[in-house]
Amino acid sequence: MRHPVVDIGVCNMCGGCIEVCPEVFRVNESTGFVEVLDQENYWFGDVDEAIKNCPLDCINWEE
Ligand code: SF4
Repeated sequence: MRHPVVDIGVCNMCGGCIEVCPEVFRVNESTGFVEVLDQENYWFGDVDEAIKNCPLDCINWEE
């Protein structure tokens, strides 16, 4: 299934994706990096909004 992936090597932890789509993106307490939560179905609209707003273009869909 198509799922969003964050390139944490590029992410600057601005928190924008978490603000737009907290159902999918959150900070991993252990690593301190943004992580993508497992979902049966992603809310594509919200994820696309997060992708559009990411200042570093480091969120992408993968199959
Ligand atoms: S919006 Fe982009 S740069 Fe900001 S925390 Fe999310 S993935 Fe990282």
